[in-house]
Amino acid sequence: MNRKDPAGYYALLGVLETASATEIKSAFRRKAKDLHPDRNPSPDAVRQFQYLSEAYEVLSNPDTRAQYDTLYAQIPESKAASHKQVALEPIACSCCKKVIAQPRYVIFFQVTSFIILTIRTPIQGIFCPKCAESKAIQSTMITWFLGWWGLPWGLIYSVSTIFQNLFGGSKPDEVNARLLAYQAWVFATQNKLELARAIAADAQDFARKIKKKDEREVLNLVEEFLSALDTKTSIKRLKNSWSIPNRAFYIQGSILIAVAALFVGSAAYAPTETNQASSTVSPTQVPDTSSPPRPKPEYVRPTTADNGVPFPSASSYIDGYPIQRTDGYSNVIVDNSQNDSDVFVKLFILDTNPPAPVRVFFIRAREKFKVENIKAGNYDVRYRDLDSGALARTDPFNLREVQTLRGIKFSEVTLTLYKVYGGNMRTYPISENEF
Ligand SMILES: [Zn+2]
Repeated sequence: MNRKDPAGYYALLGVLETASATEIKSAFRRKAKDLHPDRNPSPDAVRQFQYLSEAYEVLSNPDTRAQYDTLYAQIPESKAASHKQVALEPIACSCCKKVIAQPRYVIFFQVTSFIILTIRTPIQGIFCPKCAESKAIQSTMITWFLGWWGLPWGLIYSVSTIFQNLFGGSKPDEVNARLLAYQAWVFATQNKLELARAIAADAQDFARKIKKKDEREVLNLVEEFLSALDTKTSIKRLKNSWSIPNRAFYIQGSILIAVAALFVGSAAYAPTETNQASSTVSPTQVPDTSSPPRPKPEYVRPTTADNGVPFPSASSYIDGYPIQRTDGYSNVIVDNSQNDSDVFVKLFILDTNPPAPVRVFFIRAREKFKVENIKAGNYDVRYRDLDSGALARTDPFNLREVQTLRGIKFSEVTLTLYKVYGGNMRTYPISENEF
């Protein structure tokens, strides 16, 4: 068994020990599908699925993953074991694979948002100072670009994450104490005693900060270890290669200051603009006549459709437009009942290039219209609010026909149009050309 994967969790998920949180999540989803007892005929299915869930539970939480990742870093408790000539591998950076005297287990976060969805992803592992700095900068940049756009968590998470990364991420005390104690012990077995003592002193610093009582055992181990190595001279402490401010701190800090300056600048500029607009023209200001504000052409509600045929008085197809793709079974109900204005609607087939209208109809305010017998394919609905003139389209949707034993199953889609673009589908403003 791989010492860095003592329970075989990574192997079970089929990912490397350095896999990102996202890779672990998608590997779990894939495996869960295969191993789900409903689909997996094996008599062992339930147990396999439980094992998988256990692996995911441990690896998807940044703190338990940190514990698991460092389980191998244990000083053997029996003195006999330390005399055995086992060639122990010192801890290396999980990123650049260099062996360093001061590795740390660090957890950074990055935040990505999309409207109401905000995800905070851990970026974690055993790092050397250099690799940790690039991870911090990278996570912070991603958060700056993608973190904000979610309400309300995007903003909250982004701010806390940016500051946490700025100050070097989180370094769990117990995990780091154990990691360093182990590293010290490996160097001691290589007879590098001065270095071993210096690293053990770092381990002691972490161990002293441990708050949970049941995790304090490592402090005793480290102290025992230090007294065993005691050479009556004082320990030459290592220069802390993790001290802040470091390069990453300055880079992240400058971005923070630049954004703050931009924000303050735009806030200071905004009132001046409104003052100018509301104040009367001062004597020194020459009224600018070269480009008078162009009035927006006023929308006048048309009485006829594009083809010159007057809109009908009831909700119906509009004469003069061909009714196409009628040899199908699917129906689309366009619901204008939430809306207090009439709409001019076109059902577009998207499988042709360019997309083309196949049904053209008129729906009165507060009414619905059912478009029937539509052939399978990809469609969207485009419409003009006849009161405001605004044009919009819905999300594309797919109409399907499936042959089953009981006959043909077909799609029935209801699209609700709201005056405020919303409804059960997102809507998008479109140009005249697209209508
Ligand atoms: Zn590294």
